[in-house]
Amino acid sequence: MNNTTDFNYFNTLLVQNIGNSVGPIAPTITPSAAFGYENAEEAEGIFAAEVNKPLYARVGNPTNAKLESVVAKMEGGFASIATSSGMGAISMVVTAFLNSGDELLCIGGFFGGTYALVNETLKRFGISNSFCTVDDFTHIENTLKRGIKMVLMESVGNPSLTLPDVQRIIDLCNKYETLLMIDNTPTPLLLRPLTMGADIVVHSSTKNMSGHSAALGGIAVFREVKEAGDKLLNDKYADIHKIVKKMGKKAFIPICKKRAIRDYGMTANAFGSFMTMIGLETLSLRVERVNKSVEAISLLLDAKLPQGVSVNHPCLSSSPDNARYKSDFPDGCGPLLTLDCGTKERAFKLLNHLKLVILTANIGDNRTLALHMTSTIYSDFDEDARAFLGVHEGLIRVSIGLEDPREIAEDFLQAAHAI
Ligand SMILES: *Cc1c(COP(=O)(O)O)cnc(C)c1O
Repeated sequence: MNNTTDFNYFNTLLVQNIGNSVGPIAPTITPSAAFGYENAEEAEGIFAAEVNKPLYARVGNPTNAKLESVVAKMEGGFASIATSSGMGAISMVVTAFLNSGDELLCIGGFFGGTYALVNETLKRFGISNSFCTVDDFTHIENTLKRGIKMVLMESVGNPSLTLPDVQRIIDLCNKYETLLMIDNTPTPLLLRPLTMGADIVVHSSTKNMSGHSAALGGIAVFREVKEAGDKLLNDKYADIHKIVKKMGKKAFIPICKKRAIRDYGMTANAFGSFMTMIGLETLSLRVERVNKSVEAISLLLDAKLPQGVSVNHPCLSSSPDNARYKSDFPDGCGPLLTLDCGTKERAFKLLNHLKLVILTANIGDNRTLALHMTSTIYSDFDEDARAFLGVHEGLIRVSIGLEDPREIAEDFLQAAHAI
């Protein structure tokens, strides 16, 4: 399989599809919350999804629609729905498809918000879960055999940087006719799970897709529903068969709109979608540069960090994920690397000596960011959860930005020498 990313292809695709060639070049913002209908018949048609015009901004608006069409193309998907945040996208999908009494299979360690969603909030609503490591295929297959409805996985563990065998997991979910949602936040363009056979891709567009940290947002991208033999027609999804049969190829959209967006309202707003598109225009340039920088910085730090501080990234030959990195993520696995300082005190000292790097809870920004894990995002998590998520006391997560990679590496080196 050829997994390399054609950055030139995506540079052309993104700039040519965002905005217009005639009239206003930049994408237009339509902030209206409501939309007038031509006549009573048109109103009826819009509500029946037979006329493709805006209904009311809670269920979509023209600026979101533009973003949705670009991201669907970028991911090799059929259609997508922009949401108010990445958590909004994940919540939308899970609640649209799962009912009280259902079970979610969670593969690998999750981003803190997703971990809390499945372990606290979804549990309160009667949706249970089981977690396993990315290579526990016995658990994965045994759980799929029980007839569960959905599997959730992140393309790259954050902050563990564990790399899953994405194709093998996709194939198993297809074999057992089970929906697979992949959170592709750290790896837009580098991994395109829908082209590999996954059903749903979600992003926090707040991160890499925007890059500028000026817009909170999320998006869920869907494959086309097959005319015959689609897994959605399996008996276990009987409660959505009516929509699948009526809406055909694009059924994922009305399922999510009618069973989540309409009732919870986790919709994107026009200004947020506009800002996301402004970032998206340069995504391919940024992803290519950042992923080259991540490798260069990892190698420099690996060679030069003083004893007591170490760097972890799958591009390093010492990493257990190095073989999978080379074969499945040849152009990089996103902006993250981690530093192990041994203890919390040493990690704090290192962070407090940084001059260029910004301390914040975000990732995928144009600026380089760093954060101590157990005292912040994972402070509410017990020892077992931390161990499973690969989070320990001395761990600092770093998200590499667009600055000169030598300057970034030097900032970490001077801070590491100062502790
Ligand atoms: C940030 C993040 C989310 C949540 O996105 P928000 O836009 O902050 O709601 C989900 N998944 C991953 C991997 C993230 O990094």
